[in-house]
Amino acid sequence: HRDSVSDSSDSVISSGSDCEGPVYKVVLLGEHGVGKTSLARIFGGVEDNHDCEDAGNTYDRSIIVDEEEASILLYDIWEQDNSQWLKDQCMRMGDAYIIVYSVTDKSSFEKASELRIQLRRARQSENIPIILVGNKSDLVRSREVSVDEGSACAVVFDCKFIETSASLHHNVRDLFEGIVRQIRLRKDSKED
Ligand code: GDP
Repeated sequence: HRDSVSDSSDSVISSGSDCEGPVYKVVLLGEHGVGKTSLARIFGGVEDNHDCEDAGNTYDRSIIVDEEEASILLYDIWEQDNSQWLKDQCMRMGDAYIIVYSVTDKSSFEKASELRIQLRRARQSENIPIILVGNKSDLVRSREVSVDEGSACAVVFDCKFIETSASLHHNVRDLFEGIVRQIRLRKDSKED
């Protein structure tokens, strides 16, 4: 059963951000090969388009979460080039971040910690929503990072945690709904 983000009844995603509400910039971070582009394409509804091999992409979609529409600009540009300028830009531009590692690659998990630290340094006093994502949960036999290690790391990071499988479309919708909820929560607490 392939559970696509776009065919669920409780979260309708439409292309383009013609809704009235705010547009949230969400940036994908993580080592090469962990599944950032795969997750972004599912979100963007273009996951079956294997022809497009361009290095960086931005996906503009509206998503209804808890009966309220939100527009997301999802940036999959972390690896677009190797310039420090782009990396700095990425660290500065996001309203929220998705830090991805692969559960089959311990070093990508360690890299995720580094990215979290860099982000904290770049945005010191801001309380930015972050979700730590352990992708490739379908690859059971080559797993190198346990669910417990992932969630313990998220506690230290003060962020949310979810395991996904882009291949099976597992938890991908929950991930993007989660990021919208996190953004709303932090925004509400700021306004109080
Ligand atoms: P990126 O470099 O972080 O953007 O990673 P990609 O999205 O390009 O994925 C790298 C490779 O991992 C590709 O061959 C994907 O098909 C594969 N991949 C991505 N997500 C998953 C997953 O959840 N499960 C499995 N088995 N493979 C995945």
